[in-house]
This record gives sequence, C-alpha cells and structure tokens, in this order.
Amino acid sequence: MDKEIARLEALELKRQNEGIELIASENYPSVDVRAAQGSIFTAKYAEGYPGKRYYGGCEVVDQVENLAIERCKSLFHAAFANVQPHSGSQANFAAYRALVKPGDKILSLTLNDGGHLTHGSNVSFSANTYSFAFYPLGDDGKLDYDIIRQRLFEERPNLLLAGYSAYPFTIDFRRMRELVDEYNASTGERCLFMVDMAHIAGQVASGKCQNPCDYADIVTSTTHKTLRGPRGGIILTNDEALAKKVNSAVFPFTQGGPLEHVIAAKAIAFAEANTDGFRAYFDGVLANTRACNDELARLGRKVSGTENHLFLLDVLSSYGINGLEAQLRLERVGITTNKNMIHGDTLSPKYCSGLRIGFAAATSRGCDAEQARTIARLIDKALSCGEDELDCVRLEVRAITAGWKDISKLVF
Ligand SMILES: *Cc1c(COP(=O)(O)O)cnc(C)c1O
Repeated sequence: MDKEIARLEALELKRQNEGIELIASENYPSVDVRAAQGSIFTAKYAEGYPGKRYYGGCEVVDQVENLAIERCKSLFHAAFANVQPHSGSQANFAAYRALVKPGDKILSLTLNDGGHLTHGSNVSFSANTYSFAFYPLGDDGKLDYDIIRQRLFEERPNLLLAGYSAYPFTIDFRRMRELVDEYNASTGERCLFMVDMAHIAGQVASGKCQNPCDYADIVTSTTHKTLRGPRGGIILTNDEALAKKVNSAVFPFTQGGPLEHVIAAKAIAFAEANTDGFRAYFDGVLANTRACNDELARLGRKVSGTENHLFLLDVLSSYGINGLEAQLRLERVGITTNKNMIHGDTLSPKYCSGLRIGFAAATSRGCDAEQARTIARLIDKALSCGEDELDCVRLEVRAITAGWKDISKLVF
C-alpha cells in the first residue's frame, strides 16, 4: 500500500482506538460494511436504476442495488426507497427538488436551535434556491407544536421540515402531520411534510421512537450516523408519484454514476440494523446517553436532558468557558466532541456556549452505563481541573478504551 497513506491510516486507527468518540454524528461500521466499501463494485458504472441503466454489464450491480432497496424498505416500512444519494446533503438536495420549486417557501427549525446547513443556511444551496422561514423552539428548549402551527398559518410555506442535528428530544411526527393536514384543509393550500432523520435513523430502525415514514411525504437520512452503515444518504416515500420525482431528482438531476460499492455496504448495514442485536445496541445507546447526562446533572452541571443518542452540555454556565475551549480541552485528554449552539445561546457560532455529546459510537465499541457515568466524571474533571492535571485524565481515558473492542475488527 502507498506508504504515506498507510502511515496516516495507522495514525487514524490509533487515534480512534485510544480515544473516546462522543461526536453524536459518528459511529463505527462493521468489518463487513467496510469491506464492501473497498470492493470491486467501485469499478462499475451504473448510471440509471436497476433494469434501466445507461451502461452494459449491470446485471450483478442491479441485484446489489435491488437488495439494498428491498432491505431499506423493509427496515423503515416504506413503499419506495432510493439508495443512491452520496450523502445526507445530496439526499436533501434531491428531496427538495422532488417536493418544491425554486423560490418556494420551506418552514424549518431555527438553525441555532439544532437545524442543519441544508435546512436554510445562507452558506448552503438551500437558502440560495428556496425561501426559508423558521420556527423557534419553546422556552424550555423543546419543540412547541402550537408555535409551529402558528408559524404555518403565518408563513404559508410549501413544505414543513422536521428532523435535526442537535435536538436531544423525541419528535412528534404524527402531531406535525396533523398540523399540516389541518392547515391544508382550512386554507386549500397543499403544504407538504418532509422529515430529515439523518441523526435518529438508528432509533427509528430499532423501533424506539415514532417512524417518520408513517407521517411524512418524504423522509431523507444519512446511513453513517446512528444507523451505523457506510457514509451515504437515502430517500424514502410511500407515494409512487413522489418516488418517480425523487429518482429523477437524484439521477440525472443531481448525481451521475451511483457508488455501487457503497450501496453494497448500505445493503449490509440495513440487514445488520434489522436484528435483535441492533435493537439491543440501541437500548444501550439510549441508556448510556442518559447515564452520562444524568451524572453531569448530579455533579451540578447544566445539561439538556435526553430522549435519544445525544445531549447538550452548557459549558459556559457550567464551567465559565466557551464551547470551542471545551472541545479543545477534551481533545487533549482523548475525548472527541464538538462545540454546539445551545437554546438561547449568547455567543457566536465560532465559539458557542455548549458541547454536543453522543454515545452511538462509544456504545458500538462496548461502552456500558457504568462507564458512561465514569466518562461524565472525566469530562467534568477535564473541563474544571488545572492544566497540570490533564495528563492524568488522559491516562484514565486510555484505561477505559483499552478495554473496548478494536474498531478495525467490529462484527455485529
Ligand atoms: C448530518 C446531517 C445531514 C447531512 O449529512 P452529510 O452526509 O454530512 O451531507 C443532513 N441533515 C441532518 C439533520 C444531519 O444531521
């Protein structure tokens, strides 16, 4: 292998193995998923869809993609699935294209409250193609469905968007569907409802929250976060006409040749997620996240509480430092997190007042609730101790990860 890249891969493996990964959007895929990503399917051009390709020699990749589609549909109980989007952002690009026209209005969550760049940020294609209006969270930092209802009637959007990047509580998709139906019935408009479940796909797959596919016109997702698959995106719908629009929005509108090697890896991940083992894994994710949140609360720190795989720690009120400083401090002891805006944040996005902490990745390596509480105490120590004590915390982090599974050998 290329010596330079081999050296860097070894360094990255060591960094990941020795550290505690608490970035809520990350996870460790199985050996099988990673092998498929390195398979010969990468060599095949297959523009189009199974049975309708622009190239010859697709009889095998057609079976791969059909398998991925069938497994994806059965995992999420949806009638149609497109497994070609290269990423979550690409999936959203295509989903918007299928649902609304340029200039149409999309109502989404205020970005500082946990939305994603593709949900109306000025630096993304989204705000440059569509007109965005936003609904804020309630005073308690949770979705307030009366506010969303009010914003629907005020803004009269063409699309209501739910699903977030840093929201620690469950989302009542059924309620949002009812709001859209009520709005449409009383105004004669035809507002559509889309859910981006990029973060919570694993929780949905394990049946531990409402399934947005039961309520939304279109559901998009990543496959590499809580779902524990390869890096990529998917789009789901139960509406045949929309499914056709989605397919042409993905190819040829947005993308060229699909990544059949990644689609093979997605097929494996969908099968892995449709097992009792995965459902037990997700119980662990939820228990560990709660244990860490609750332990920090017991220590007197300001945490958001949690009903999924993540929570937010207000480091400004808890430790008098900003999110960036906290992130850098934790990095020095081998704990990886990211700075994040918290509800009502007074600092700029460059610094933020909070940290986002998630347990999807650590749980894949074997972290249990007792260790999650220990990790809470290590975070607390690293954020409040003197510079000279950081080395000692680093050793304690190392002692925990030494007992965990090697991430290059994970089998689920
Ligand atoms: C991560 C995320 C995405 C984008 O995924 P990429 O694969 O990084 O493009 C989209 N939406 C939400 C809500 C996300 O959290």
